[in-house]
Amino acid sequence: MILVINSGSSSVKYQLVDLDGPTRIKSGKVERVGEPDSGVPDHEAALQRVADEVSMDSGDLTAIGHRVVHGGPWFTGPVLITDEVVKRIEEAVPLAPLHNPANLAGIEETRRLRPDLPQVAVFDTAFHSTMPDAARTYAIDREVAERYGVRRYGFHGTSTAYVSRVAAEMIGRPGTANVIVLHLGNGASASAVSAGRCVDTSMGMTPMEGLVMGTRPGDLDPGVIFHLIREGMTPDEVESMLNHRAGLHGLSGDNDMRTVIERVAAGDADAALAYAVYCHRLRKYIGAYCAVLGTVHVIAFTGGVGENSAQVRRNVLAGLEPMGIRLDPLRNVSVTGARVVSAGDSAVTVAVVPTDEELEIARETDGVLARTKSE
Ligand code: ADP
Repeated sequence: MILVINSGSSSVKYQLVDLDGPTRIKSGKVERVGEPDSGVPDHEAALQRVADEVSMDSGDLTAIGHRVVHGGPWFTGPVLITDEVVKRIEEAVPLAPLHNPANLAGIEETRRLRPDLPQVAVFDTAFHSTMPDAARTYAIDREVAERYGVRRYGFHGTSTAYVSRVAAEMIGRPGTANVIVLHLGNGASASAVSAGRCVDTSMGMTPMEGLVMGTRPGDLDPGVIFHLIREGMTPDEVESMLNHRAGLHGLSGDNDMRTVIERVAAGDADAALAYAVYCHRLRKYIGAYCAVLGTVHVIAFTGGVGENSAQVRRNVLAGLEPMGIRLDPLRNVSVTGARVVSAGDSAVTVAVVPTDEELEIARETDGVLARTKSE
């Protein structure tokens, strides 16, 4: 049995996965970590609570798999956690200052609680490491980029790997399909995947670039940042605004897509603008990735918005029939598991694939163990 830990900045999620059995044994979430009066002052306390809930001292556990957001330039796949690996994850903190420290806190705590168990780091960036230079390189001074690790890394890789694989299997082209994955949750990203390898993705050096998100703007002229700083905002204020008060939230005051959609229906102009900007950006990326891939076999929607909002799928794909993309209105509103929602005569299959990052992390962890044993 594998324990999957997703230790985030304000919550720790866990799942016990049995890859040989009915898979999901137990899952849970410790929330409001570090908030006053939450009873969970820090990650140590949060992990202790997880340890109690899953009986972490149980002999049934074979390994612990950790979600780690940023692998820097070093990690192109999952790895067995050693002191050296921990050091590298620390070195990637400047690239993901909100996420990597929380991931590390989780790793340190579980290593302390179960020093005997193999622990594996599964990186959000790893799946994108196959991107060609043309897609990963920002057109800036090469020496500066090299010195400071400035390039596109991409995120949501674990989800994108899982969803693109399932989508390819759904259309009978396992391992060979060209897939556009749209992961639309609070964070949002688009990726172009060709024959199982990522060839481009919308998030960049940080998870701020690309699509409009719950609280982040996605693509933005970098000149805006310098303008705001010269007008008197501090760099920290600008960064905080772009992380927490931009995107749907910045435009409408709400970061939750359900609320935005309800407000649009009620005639709210701010919500309507936020929704329009969100959908417009998404269409632009679909068009761009159709061009990057040439032939697209599947467009796969996932994440809270992608899986649940028939309206977003309908609005975003409306008018793309000349590109061979045609939704089936009835299939689009069906609500069962992984499913095809495009019309029978659509050249491009449109699918909804519920993501399962925990299962993917458990499989990756198992794979690392198997490789370690056979070495
Ligand atoms: P996270 O990125 O934190 O894992 P999720 O993938 O769960 O988040 O996505 C959360 C988003 O999904 C929220 O904006 C939420 O409003 C949206 N969402 C969930 N259900 C629906 C729905 N039925 N219609 C529209 N949006 C939805």
